[in-house]
Amino acid sequence: MGLGSFGGAVSATRFLSDAGGVVSVTDLRSEEQLAASLSQLDGLRLKQVALGQHPLELFTNCDVLVVNPAVRPDDPFVQAAVQAGAEITSEVDLFCRFNPAPVIGVTGSNGKSTTSALIHHLLVRTRDQPNSRYWLGGNIGGSLLPQLDDISSSDIVVLELSSFQLESLRRRRFRPRIAIITNLTPNHLDWHNTMAAYHRAKHGVLDAQFRDDAAVLPDDTGGDVTWSPRGMFWRFGIGDSGEDGVFLEDDLLIARSGQRFHFDRRVSTSVVSDPITHETAARPARAAVEEVVRCRLPRQLPGDHNRRNVAAATCATWLAGGELSRVNDALQVFQGLPHRLQFVVERGGRRFFNDSIATTPESSIEALNVFQSRIVMLAGGHDKGLDLSEFAGAIARSASATVLMGQTSGLLREQILQRSNRNCRKVVCGRDFEDSFRQAVALSKPGDIVLLSPGCASYGWFRDFRERGNRFVELAMQWTDES
Ligand code: ADP
Repeated sequence: MGLGSFGGAVSATRFLSDAGGVVSVTDLRSEEQLAASLSQLDGLRLKQVALGQHPLELFTNCDVLVVNPAVRPDDPFVQAAVQAGAEITSEVDLFCRFNPAPVIGVTGSNGKSTTSALIHHLLVRTRDQPNSRYWLGGNIGGSLLPQLDDISSSDIVVLELSSFQLESLRRRRFRPRIAIITNLTPNHLDWHNTMAAYHRAKHGVLDAQFRDDAAVLPDDTGGDVTWSPRGMFWRFGIGDSGEDGVFLEDDLLIARSGQRFHFDRRVSTSVVSDPITHETAARPARAAVEEVVRCRLPRQLPGDHNRRNVAAATCATWLAGGELSRVNDALQVFQGLPHRLQFVVERGGRRFFNDSIATTPESSIEALNVFQSRIVMLAGGHDKGLDLSEFAGAIARSASATVLMGQTSGLLREQILQRSNRNCRKVVCGRDFEDSFRQAVALSKPGDIVLLSPGCASYGWFRDFRERGNRFVELAMQWTDES
């Protein structure tokens, strides 16, 4: 259910078909919209491919329903399959059933992809185990199902896990060797209805852990939510709380542990079938190990939220046997993830950042808070009916000039001008994306940041945030101050 365009469903379809399954595929989008994914199914003998609609009988007549992570858990078609007795699963759940390697599982409201990618990057560069390979998958995209034959028990798999993926994994008592929760903020309540349900879904990453497994949890400043790990746990944060954990305080990276965690004590599988009793780890009175190294964050990782992501990722890597002394060098060559406050290029004294993934006002407000330099902002897009007043206020405070795009441009302009005494020639609307980019660079000066952080969805002008971000990167790479 949900072929999509990110590859996970294509891999699941191939995997099940190659294993002898009788497989049907359905998606609400049209053949034309899904052309790229459909072409990757060439050569498979599928029972049915139903596009543009979900035929109910497919859901009531299947043994197993593999659901795309973008589908809501209370979707009526999923519920119809549940009623008919089908097993509900996901691509990542299929992977976990057959994966022989220990898993580092990452979840949370924000920062999952960045933290997962950082852990993978740090493992590769700081862990000296010639027989190990490191794999990155789950919600971050790029299915690991096709790699299953290459993954061995001495490798490590880093999985980014959405709440929905955790729901299906919880039923199978998924047991990551190291579980990480980046944070919990009420930004997915449209899915989970209540904060308690959302919290329970995220807690699923801890629920089947054993006493000798590890949890990496935010320090208290990460919100007032409590977590009850069953195994040992460590904290992360950007101020040293004196607890066991990893803290990035100013330019010091501090790692501390009074507990012994043996990552290499192998477990037979990352998935367990027997329930375990609940026990909370006892905290030791004193730290037995403390390491401190200097650490400077590269410009690919701007902002306090990224300092927290680095602390969390370092904690997991350190627990898995990575060397703290090599973390700083490794961070300097981290590429950053595309579209997430991604540093693109420095041209004519301007630095271009692509934050196209910011499709909500909150994430763009976060981005505006990151930079100290003057910002020329590219914002706006499709109108989802969200309240834009706080966003307009943040732009009025933080951006020295703004180019507005798409449906929301008129409203945003009016609200920004109401909140600032800014020259209205510095708050302008673009005719199309290229025109918006041109106006943004014309309004910028050497030393400025040109930031694409729309705070709105991309529909109308683009297929998705990736296409929008890629176009921005192209334009920035082509631009010279003579052009
Ligand atoms: P996720 O995978 O959870 O969606 P990403 O790593 O893709 O998170 O980051 C998406 C956006 O969320 C970033 O561009 C940034 O604006 C914001 N973000 C990233 N990390 C954090 C964090 N630790 N706390 C708050 N916001 C964050």
